[in-house]
Amino acid sequence: MAVGADGLWIAIAPSAGAGEAGAGERRPALFLDRDGVIVDEVGYLARREDVRLIAGAAAIIAAANRARIPVVVVTNQSGIGRGIISWADFAAVEDEIARQLARHRARLDAVLACPHHAQGRPPYAMAGHPARKPAPGLLLAAAQRLPIDLRRSWIVGDRASDLAAGRNAGLAGGVHVATGFGTAGAERAAARQLAGDGFDVRGAPSIAAAATLLPLLGGHGG
Ligand SMILES: [Mg+2]
Repeated sequence: MAVGADGLWIAIAPSAGAGEAGAGERRPALFLDRDGVIVDEVGYLARREDVRLIAGAAAIIAAANRARIPVVVVTNQSGIGRGIISWADFAAVEDEIARQLARHRARLDAVLACPHHAQGRPPYAMAGHPARKPAPGLLLAAAQRLPIDLRRSWIVGDRASDLAAGRNAGLAGGVHVATGFGTAGAERAAARQLAGDGFDVRGAPSIAAAATLLPLLGGHGG
């Protein structure tokens, strides 16, 4: 298990270059929300058999892998805090996601999850935890462990709170996707409100279209 004393799940792939932090060049990263962005939003995803990759997710992750752009999943998992799912469930789902991505020669460099929630059970009962998006804690924790340049990094999310976490971490921008909770127009509108002060906001139908919007991957649209 990758759960630390702070209750956060922080799993860094051995191939992710963690030892390079501070030693050389910091690279822009691609931060991704998980549920509703990479996999179908099913509500407290807990079983391997419910893991379905969203079309285009594996391709964009593989493209980032080839470009040596760290791919970092940052996910709120209040279901764990609420006692609805367990860390073992989470681990099984992560294993299945990795297995399905590997079929497409795609891999995640890091996965960070926050179980804390106002309605959580001890020890996860906390409102406004600094790692729960829209707070930037998970992104900052990743940048402490990998050679990431946050100011050139981007995030893709289906909720405005995903992009808000990116803005709060000082990223260059975020792509809001209309999958998962992003199908609600209010999320797109709230995401658009986050643009400004050096934070760029773009909208895409799904992660499949995000590649053409991400400067990281050579995209320029928006
Ligand atoms: Mg989501």
